[in-house]
Amino acid sequence: MKKTNVIWFGLISLYSTLAIGMEERSFPIVQCPLTPSTHEQILLTKLRKQETQTKEFRDIVSKLGSHLVSKVVNCLPTQEIKIQTPVTQCLGLALEKKIELVSVMRSGDALLESFVLHFPDAHISKFLIQRDEETAEPHFKYMKISPTIASDCPVIIVEPMIATGGTLGMVINLLKEKGVSEHNIIIASVCVAPEGLERLSANFPQIKMILNVLDEKLNDRKFIVPGLGDFGDRYFGTTEKPAW
Ligand code: URA
Repeated sequence: MKKTNVIWFGLISLYSTLAIGMEERSFPIVQCPLTPSTHEQILLTKLRKQETQTKEFRDIVSKLGSHLVSKVVNCLPTQEIKIQTPVTQCLGLALEKKIELVSVMRSGDALLESFVLHFPDAHISKFLIQRDEETAEPHFKYMKISPTIASDCPVIIVEPMIATGGTLGMVINLLKEKGVSEHNIIIASVCVAPEGLERLSANFPQIKMILNVLDEKLNDRKFIVPGLGDFGDRYFGTTEKPAW
């Protein structure tokens, strides 16, 4: 092969490795495709746009939440049940176990709506953990836990944005202290940074993660890039000045 061809071949291989590296990286805790569906991509595009206002932002979060619910249900244990239709008897499918929901306030509450719609009798545990704006370190403030949280059923934590994974790590450790098994924990998230995913994969290899999109990276203020800014502020309409 000519020397110039070898150089071109090298450059093309390097580019492909960088471009598809993210997709090829294996994250066994992720239980859904890393690439969003076409519908999710369209919704995410609207969500990311800085001109999208609160009303539309909320509407899109609810739609993305429904995608997350479907993907979560795909990894829940099910059982066949016999039912009687108006016409005949047939076999149907039902969830095997009750579901426990966990919301990490404030942003988690935004996703909760979609999950409560599909799991209307689930108990809901709440955590308030504040991220220090300067250091991005999590600080525990409050929790109220369901009395049946450790009853060997799936525990779904809703957390729209996973940046460093520090907040979520704290929540998972607190749940484990309350008797929740790691393998019962499922995290549902809209937008995840590779840094957070790597940290959670290393520290909690038995959890499951469902997401709409895996983004590129964190910036030096620990905001997700390209991301969508501060999720809580955009959803609740409390944006003052951008922190990213
Ligand atoms: N939380 C957010 O709301 N946005 C980010 O980019 C990271 C964490």
